[in-house]
Amino acid sequence: MKKLEEMFRLQQRLNDETNGVKWREGVTKHGKIINWKRCIVMETAELIDSFSWKHWKNIAGGIDFENIKIEMVDIWHFVMSYILRFHVPQEAAKLAYATMKVSAVKLPTSWSEADNARIETLLEPFEDLMALALIKTDDVAYREELLEQFWECVDAVGLGFDELYRLYIGKNALNQFRQMHGYKEGTYLKVWNGREDNVVMQEILAERPDITYDGLMDALEAAYATVSGKE
Ligand code: MG
Ligand code: MG
Repeated sequence: MKKLEEMFRLQQRLNDETNGVKWREGVTKHGKIINWKRCIVMETAELIDSFSWKHWKNIAGGIDFENIKIEMVDIWHFVMSYILRFHVPQEAAKLAYATMKVSAVKLPTSWSEADNARIETLLEPFEDLMALALIKTDDVAYREELLEQFWECVDAVGLGFDELYRLYIGKNALNQFRQMHGYKEGTYLKVWNGREDNVVMQEILAERPDITYDGLMDALEAAYATVSGKE
């Protein structure tokens, strides 16, 4: 519950900073219309494309598990943003907690010929999420249903809440860190002593699975301080 609320707070801050304070009204500071539910649809499509579902292409292909996880985190950004239009982070966290659900469908950990035959079943949780996100309703019952379906997808993927949390804070922290260190100005160094910043971040997360957001920011700070070639 604490971790959920933390993620909603981080997402709220990210939206305030990148879209301006009026994002809840559905418009960015540049006057662009925001449609979070369409974002969910499109990210879910990216997830589905991690399966080689196309009958005319790459017919013997398998499944890109790493990318599926990345897309689940992308979807999570947009699900949280959508929920935050209607709820403050504390309330949003309660709603998200109350709707957690397991899935009857679970993706296999390695792909086999037999999985190709049941691909329609394996894609069901994601297509259900997509279908829900296309419905033009926003009432509370609908929001709960959308969250439930999101958790079903998380479970189908075999992601686990703690891993979702780690991946989310990792992505958010790195974005924040880059902004703080001159990403927009072009002075940020993405390669840290021969390794990309996101690789360093993944290592920190792997070494310290219980790390908090602030702990991660401190660890990034310490690692970046050792980078040579910067002012
Ligand atoms: Mg095309
Ligand atoms: Mg994506």
